[in-house]
Amino acid sequence: MRIGHGFDAHRLCEGDHIIIGGVRIPHTHGMLAHSDGDVLIHAICDALLGAIAHGDIGRLFPDTDPAFKGVDSTLLLEKVMQEVAAQGFRVGNLDATVIAQAPRMQPHVAAMRERIGRLLGVQVDEVNVKATTTEKMGYTGRGEGIAAHAVVLLLPCDD
Ligand SMILES: [Zn+2]
Repeated sequence: MRIGHGFDAHRLCEGDHIIIGGVRIPHTHGMLAHSDGDVLIHAICDALLGAIAHGDIGRLFPDTDPAFKGVDSTLLLEKVMQEVAAQGFRVGNLDATVIAQAPRMQPHVAAMRERIGRLLGVQVDEVNVKATTTEKMGYTGRGEGIAAHAVVLLLPCDD
């Protein structure tokens, strides 16, 4: 078994929607990022890469590379999953937390779990997404940005 942890945060900017966990959510702001700014998918990528000791998402997909400008982050996750499979592992389960003062994540959690489950090749009950505020403290609390943590367990494919 292998375990991995990932963390990511992005700054909010002008805009009318954000994408979290591969789900488009209407919001008063957008995400400032080289990619689509999906902090949850990025944290999951880093957790997976961490578990197979393959560095991090910035090393695999440099934000100086124009190929990744505005990229749909679920495509990056698909590439990371190919690496995981190539190392002989599959996902056991994933637990994640999104940290945002706004918008409310709860109405979108079911769609996120379903999307992430498909991307990771696991059932929806092997994927947990939690959402919390920081009670208006810090950069997430002031609505300056959104952050996410993810922990993943990998199992050998032949298990
Ligand atoms: Zn990111």
